Amino acid sequence: MAHLQDPVLIIGAGPAGLSMAAALADAGVATTVLEAASEAELANPPEDGREIALSHRGMAVLQSLQAWQDLPPEAISPLRQARVFNGSASNSLHFDGGGAERLGSLVPNHWLRRIAWQGAQRRPLVQLRTETRVTALDLSAQDHALVSLAGGEQFRAPLVIAADSRFSASRRQAGIGAEMRDFGRSVLLCRIEHEKPHQDQALECFHHGHTMAWLPLGAESPRLSSLVLTLPTDQAEAQLRWNDEQWLAWVQQHSKDRLGTLRLAGPRHHYPLVATYAHRFVAPRFALIGDAAVGMHPVTAHGYNLGLYGIETLARCLKGAADPGDATRLARYADEHRRTSWPIYQGTNAVVRLFTDERPPARLLRQGVIALAERLPPLKSLITAQLTARGPVTLASLSGR
Ligand SMILES: Cc1cc2nc3c(=O)[nH]c(=O)nc-3n(C[C@H](O)[C@H](O)[C@H](O)COP(=O)(O)OP(=O)(O)OC[C@H]3O[C@@H](n4cnc5c(N)ncnc54)[C@H](O)[C@@H]3O)c2cc1C
Repeated sequence: MAHLQDPVLIIGAGPAGLSMAAALADAGVATTVLEAASEAELANPPEDGREIALSHRGMAVLQSLQAWQDLPPEAISPLRQARVFNGSASNSLHFDGGGAERLGSLVPNHWLRRIAWQGAQRRPLVQLRTETRVTALDLSAQDHALVSLAGGEQFRAPLVIAADSRFSASRRQAGIGAEMRDFGRSVLLCRIEHEKPHQDQALECFHHGHTMAWLPLGAESPRLSSLVLTLPTDQAEAQLRWNDEQWLAWVQQHSKDRLGTLRLAGPRHHYPLVATYAHRFVAPRFALIGDAAVGMHPVTAHGYNLGLYGIETLARCLKGAADPGDATRLARYADEHRRTSWPIYQGTNAVVRLFTDERPPARLLRQGVIALAERLPPLKSLITAQLTARGPVTLASLSGR
């Protein structure tokens, strides 16, 4: 016999699932979040090497959830400028905040997970069930969705929201397919100290065969950055087997002395690069959010930002609903989130294609793109606006517009 549950069930207590629960609580909707990991892991998430670049709009969503305020100053590094290089060409494309004091901010992912957990903890409308794996989903009933857990227990609710990662099993169980783009590449992440100061500037260097991004961690040190090295997966796996000295020597040689002498300041982390885009964001009494809806290639730093925009949109669409599973409201969310995310998803994949194509015409084309964008202020402003996602913030709905 299924339990009659809270109005909304959320599968997955990653940063998206927990922030969704907080946003719904602020809109007066109670939720239960079902999560496979333990409470201890959620409360104290381990460092995972990811430094998340947040846009102005992403930060505004976190502020509206009272989550941003939980970050200590040493967790927020300003990203004031970015410079893009093609191969060893000396010219570059330079971005600054375009009138704003910064392009965005960098926050370690484990801090974003921690503040999402704290936000859920202090809202009585959010219940959590940890060490609980969802194994099946049944959307055949008119008035509820049914979720089955590994131990045989079942829950039913008028709406189930899936935030169970880009490889979402519940997306498949809901009969929703997804575009999956395996880039055949992986990223290696590592904190590195360097001789020259970073001046709060990110460097994106598209070399032949690999990409090196340097993300400045100014809140901790003017000489500390996170290296994001993108390589074909076989080479990334080979490099993981190298010892620290061997790897550092390779990084030093390929960094073109842009940051001077380097020193490792943390362990290496490894992520295979697979982007996903769900064919639909909703099904009857079911919605996808976070990476389960759109899993981005990290090069344009949009993944969690898009997750936050989707959370804000869905909470706004469900606010005041007598039935949170109302199909018209879910369709409104799906339309809006698709309009926001599809151009960014396609644009990001086009950037990846252009900057990883090693054929001579592509190399020339990207040199041309960099030169053109540098000389055309309107194009640069457009890219800056895209990167920072500045513009009208639609959060008033969450705080009672
Ligand atoms: C290298 C890298 C760099 C990135 N850089 C940026 C950046 O600069 N800017 C940016 O905006 N984004 C960035 N991202 C993206 C960002 O990290 C993700 O968008 C975000 O972490 C996704 O959060 P999520 O909650 O959707 O999914 P996840 O964090 O994957 O959480 C999913 C949760 O669901 C749980 N779960 C899964 N299945 C089940 C089940 N069956 N039952 C119960 N629980 C389940 C899991 O245990 C997990 O806790 C980056 C990603 C990578 C890999």
